Amino acid sequence: MNPAKRLVYGAARALGLFALARHLTRHRVRILCFHGGSLGDEHRFNPLLFCTGEHLARRLAWMDAHGFSWVSLDSATDMLKGAAARPRLPVVLTFDDGWYSTAQVLGPVVARHQVPAVLYLCTSHFQRGEPVPDVSMAYLVWQAGARVVHLDGVDPALDGRYDLADPPSRKDFLARAIRWVREAGAGDVSARLDLLAGALGQSPRSLDLASRRFSYLDGHELQALRAQGWSIELHGHEHRYPAGDPAALAQDLQRCQAVFASQSLPPGRHYCYPSGNHDAAAHELMTQHGVETATTCLPGLCPEGDARALHYLPRFLDGANIPPLVFEAEMSGFADGVRWLARLGRRG
Ligand SMILES: [Zn+2]
Repeated sequence: MNPAKRLVYGAARALGLFALARHLTRHRVRILCFHGGSLGDEHRFNPLLFCTGEHLARRLAWMDAHGFSWVSLDSATDMLKGAAARPRLPVVLTFDDGWYSTAQVLGPVVARHQVPAVLYLCTSHFQRGEPVPDVSMAYLVWQAGARVVHLDGVDPALDGRYDLADPPSRKDFLARAIRWVREAGAGDVSARLDLLAGALGQSPRSLDLASRRFSYLDGHELQALRAQGWSIELHGHEHRYPAGDPAALAQDLQRCQAVFASQSLPPGRHYCYPSGNHDAAAHELMTQHGVETATTCLPGLCPEGDARALHYLPRFLDGANIPPLVFEAEMSGFADGVRWLARLGRRG
């Protein structure tokens, strides 16, 4: 966090401006986003992708203490359409992807706070049921640090010398390794990752795939979340928004809905853009496919009474690296006010 921002936010909070922002924006809907939980040191590797249960518990406790009202995404949608009465400071809690750790580490925290959470499920990873290659590999390379790796006799597509301290060489290694792991036959992803762990001077024990830290939840765990009041929604089949390719989007959504049907889930009616990527055509396409809302990773308070805006809903992406001051500024609506003033200043 830059020092000027910390100074402004700190002074604003001390002067009661966060509380004033909460009062002025008490009718506006907020959406909050997390991903997986941390079963080991994943929150240090990628703090926006994995957080500890304690982190989530602190955030939810702060929200509860400051009078926020947890609402379901369906209720929030009705509010945004202008059709429903709203409680004070309505907020929707969402989780992206479908990590095993979301259910295992964060699920109990959500249950304690009685929040009707949303899981945006990426159905291809769910279906495959093996560690996610790109995240597992990124973790391995992070864990290995700066070192030179020699691969010989592993696979002609991968063999060679890579200097992980050199960004282009590291990028090349990651791309080749991810491709190689992705090409593994069913049941072989873990074996290939363990082999690469050894080549990087790590051990399968330190990679610890057995803990399922880089795996998705399974069908039973998904149903257990539903039984706790979670709703399961769309996050793409391939975890990619095919901008400029309406046919690919239609096919991707169909594949998501087929997996939902196979799990006896109701059809998904809300979408979350994978990696936040979206385009101007999304509103019409989502409407055509019966998708009522779509969320981005751009922070802000949700706009009111605008059908188009329902497919570009702002959402605050929280993580272990976000200072409490920034989190409170965003959730209070103060940060949105600052952005509004900045836009006004640029126009003037
Ligand atoms: Zn995602």
